Amino acid sequence: MDCERVAELLMSSTYAIAFTGAGISTASGIPDFRGPNGLWRKYSPELASIEYFERDPKGFWDFYSLRMRGLFEAEPNKAHYALAELEKLGLIKVVITQNIDGLHQKAGSKNVIELHGTMRRCYCTNCGKSYDSKEVLKIIDQGISPPKCSCGGIIRPDVVLFGEPVKGIYEALNIAYDADLVLSIGSSLTVYPANLIPQVVKEHGGKLIIINMEETPLDEIADIVIRDRVEEVLPCIVENVKKLIG
Ligand code: NAD
Repeated sequence: MDCERVAELLMSSTYAIAFTGAGISTASGIPDFRGPNGLWRKYSPELASIEYFERDPKGFWDFYSLRMRGLFEAEPNKAHYALAELEKLGLIKVVITQNIDGLHQKAGSKNVIELHGTMRRCYCTNCGKSYDSKEVLKIIDQGISPPKCSCGGIIRPDVVLFGEPVKGIYEALNIAYDADLVLSIGSSLTVYPANLIPQVVKEHGGKLIIINMEETPLDEIADIVIRDRVEEVLPCIVENVKKLIG
């Protein structure tokens, strides 16, 4: 493994960031979209689209509430904790995640940008009132689906659905312009515009390190590609950083 080399690059960087995808959470029991056991091998991606939510909110919630319940049972894994440790050591400045599971924060990462929102929160499509998703699941358990707000509006998850704009992308791109290293962790790097983040870092002269089980479209331009499990690789990087710190 190239953990030692990655540790050295992290130590010599001044503004390193992490870009994470669903692959960092598979060891926590949350399936990714496109990996070998990915959700899209079982379900159609259209189930998570704004078009489907608007056409059939009950059908949408039948699928989405299942995902939410699985998520509340999940705990961070060794990869989330290792990344939080790299932030504590001052080596990772920001985590930009495509994930909606909240596991980075649960593991102790502080500076997290959730590009695609969070499953832990919902809001009313009529009055905008915010809800904890656990409360919304209770409404569904009472037989009210789609879940309704006190104003009568339909409640939706606070996530970016397929077909919707990614609100946080400009803030994330500005960070990517400044970064001199990006660790791309557990992402197929196929979801636009999120996948611009690692590209922008590289195009501005920064280093691109990809850690993913499968090939990605950016492997060719990466400085280092580690095709292994992130929950093994990230703790190994932390171990090597600690050796260098002494
Ligand atoms: P993706 O499903 O497209 O790709 C995940 C990649 O991770 C795959 O290439 C797979 O080979 C790799 N992978 C899986 N487990 C791994 C492991 N243990 N170690 C190393 N690599 C591993 O996911 P993506 O690139 O994040 O993009 C898809 C979209 O998925 C995002 O928009 C995100 O919102 C959404 N999503 C999020 C979650 C979550 O919050 N946990 C779960 C599923 C999908």
